[in-house]
Amino acid sequence: MSLEHVAVIGAGQMGSGIAQVFASVGSHPVTLIDISQECLDRGRQGIESSLEKLVRKGRMTDEVRGVALDRLTYASDIDAAAGAQLVVEAVPEIVELKRTIFTNLDHVTGSSAILASNTSSLSITSLGALTSRPDRVIGMHFMNPVPLMTLVEIIRGLETSDETVSTVIGWCEKLGKTPIEVRDFPGFVSNRVLLPMLNEAIQTVHEGVATPDAVDRIMKLGMNHPVGPIALADFIGLDTCLSIMEVLHRELGDDKYRPSPLLRKMVEAGRLGKKSGRGFYDYRD
Ligand code: NAD
Repeated sequence: MSLEHVAVIGAGQMGSGIAQVFASVGSHPVTLIDISQECLDRGRQGIESSLEKLVRKGRMTDEVRGVALDRLTYASDIDAAAGAQLVVEAVPEIVELKRTIFTNLDHVTGSSAILASNTSSLSITSLGALTSRPDRVIGMHFMNPVPLMTLVEIIRGLETSDETVSTVIGWCEKLGKTPIEVRDFPGFVSNRVLLPMLNEAIQTVHEGVATPDAVDRIMKLGMNHPVGPIALADFIGLDTCLSIMEVLHRELGDDKYRPSPLLRKMVEAGRLGKKSGRGFYDYRD
């Protein structure tokens, strides 16, 4: 099935990246929607500078960059998703917020539209159950930064149809991504494996075992990780990390997923990582 119109809800680091990759391929319009004008402006600037960087590095022609920019429109009202055939939701990892968005999207969009969530951990089945089309609700879990990372974890909810899964896999392949299908369990595969490691790294800092820099250097030099776990947590967003750990802890019922008290404190202090200017490291310069 060819795509005619894509809408993305949430213009943060993930939503703007998702809108950018959809606008860079095919010929359909892409509408990026956010309730905050400041976030929409920041999202637009992020897309413009990312496209420019890709051209500078020879990974995209200037012509494609121009077409991608022309194809993108920005809106602050969810009604702008009305004509979309695919909507990708990328608002913060807060279950009540995502539930409201899916309920509204079910009213706003045509009944044949596919509704996807970029959630890192939450149940696709329960989001689908809020709509009149659970067979057309699916998880499309893009990786950060979206324009550079090829994986998309495809999450099949209990009621997601084979047709929806194969349509979405086809669209991902057209984007040049590698979709991998998983079942709908808390944190899916990527974050069920990754997040406990990041949480444990933060816990070692909390217990005074080592500094954030020492933890990161040990994991980079000793385990050949390209980025240390503390820096990666800052990059993902500490609020997102905490939300994912809370979902794993609550839904899987095992204390091994208990969020580190230091992770909680950092979020309480508003030190959310790179996106807020300060997390375990300082990004204000
Ligand atoms: P973010 O905080 O950078 O952006 C979220 C955006 O949603 C903000 O711009 C905010 O203004 C907007 N928003 C909030 N309420 C809204 C509403 N009602 N309508 C429209 N927009 C609204 O968050 P992010 O890091 O982009 O994460 C978004 C989603 O992607 C989360 O579910 C997260 O778990 C998931 N995710 C994040 C990463 C990562 O590395 N950060 C990776 C994969 C998936």
